[in-house]
Amino acid sequence: MTNPTSAPTSVLSPTLQLACDLIERPSVTPDDAGCQPLMIKRLEAIGFHCQTLIFDEGGVPIKNLWAVRGDSGPIFCFAGHTDVVPTGPESEWKIPPFSPTIKDGMLYGRGAADMKGSLASMVVACEDFVAANPNHSGRIAFLITADEEGPAIDGTVKVVKHLQEQGTHIDWCLVGEPSSTSKVGDTIKNGRRGSLGAWLSINGKQGHVAYPHLADNPIHRIAPALAELANENWDNGNDFFPATSFQVSNFNSGTGATNVIPGKVDIICNFRFSTEVTAEELQQRTEAILQKHELDYVVDWRLSGLPFLTAEGDLVDAAVTAIKKTTGIDTELSTAGGTSDGRFIAPTGSQVVELGPVNATIHQVDECILASDLETLTTIYTGIMEELLP
Ligand SMILES: [Zn+2]
Repeated sequence: MTNPTSAPTSVLSPTLQLACDLIERPSVTPDDAGCQPLMIKRLEAIGFHCQTLIFDEGGVPIKNLWAVRGDSGPIFCFAGHTDVVPTGPESEWKIPPFSPTIKDGMLYGRGAADMKGSLASMVVACEDFVAANPNHSGRIAFLITADEEGPAIDGTVKVVKHLQEQGTHIDWCLVGEPSSTSKVGDTIKNGRRGSLGAWLSINGKQGHVAYPHLADNPIHRIAPALAELANENWDNGNDFFPATSFQVSNFNSGTGATNVIPGKVDIICNFRFSTEVTAEELQQRTEAILQKHELDYVVDWRLSGLPFLTAEGDLVDAAVTAIKKTTGIDTELSTAGGTSDGRFIAPTGSQVVELGPVNATIHQVDECILASDLETLTTIYTGIMEELLP
C-alpha cells in the first residue's frame, strides 16, 4: 500500500487510511470498483453479517451491501454510497482524482467529501464502538449502494423494498452525506425538500417574422405565464422548510435564424417543495396558470422525491448530543440542499438524519476535506452509537 502523505514517515490514522483505500478505487457511478468488498472485509472482522444484493432493472448489475451486527432489538443503520460522480477533465485536477493525497492538512481525491470519508468514519467508528461494547444493545447495520449518483433505481430504493419484504425495519438511519457547511457537525439535515420536475412543451405556429399574422409565436405566449409561475407564492414554508421554489432550468426554442418565428418551446422546470404543499397541488396550480393563459401545451411530470422530515426523537437527540460532546458545537437542523437517498428510507417510518463532512467542494475538481475532520466525524459517529445502543 502506498503512503499517500507527502511525509513518507507519517502513519495515517485508521480512518484516513481507509478513506484513502476507498478513494484509490475509481468507483465512478455505478461501478463499485471493489469498495464494498473492502468494507465487507472490515465489517465481517467485527461480527457483521454481510449480504451483497444485486439489482439490474436499469440494465447494469448494481452492487448493494446490507450488513447487520446483532440478533434483535432496534436497528441503527449507517447509509451511504460507494459510487462517485465523474471527474471531468483529469488534467484540471492539481492532484489526480484517484490518487488520494494529504496536502496542507487537506485530503484530496474524488469522493473525499461525497462520501468515502464518511464511509471510512462509519467503519472505524463501528470498530471502536464494538471493541468497547462487544455486547451492545440493539443492532448496527449498513445500507450501502453503488447507485446513488446515477439514476438511483437499483440502489437504496431496491434494498429498502427488499428489507420491507423481509419484515426488517430500520428504526434510526444516519446517512453520511456531507451535511456540514464550514465545520464538521455545524449542520445536520433532518429532512429534505421534495423535488418535482416538469417537461413542458408549448405549441405555436412557425412562420416568417415579417408575416406574424400568419404565425403564432409560442415564446410570446409562454413568457407571461412563466413570469406568473416564477412570481407565484407556492407556500410560506414552515419551521423546518424554506418556502417552496419554482425554477426554470432549461428553455429551448428557435431555429437559429433571425427571420423565423419558432413553432414550439421546450422548457424544463423544477419545484423544490416543502411539506406545506403536495406534488398534486403543485401540478394542479401550475396547469391552472397555463390554462388561464390559453396555452396549447403538453406537460410530463416527474416526481423524483417526496419531502421528508425527522423533527425530533432519539436520533436527532443522539446526533445533537454527540456533536456537542465532540466539538462543542450547537448544531443547526436544516432541510436545505438537494435530494438524497434518505427520501427512500424515511417513508418506511424510520427516523433519518444526514450527518457528514463539509460539502464545499462536492462534485468539483480538486474535491477535498480537512483531514482532521474525518477523525472528528469518527468520534461523533461513535458517540451516536453510545447514545442509541448502550
Ligand atoms: Zn453523496
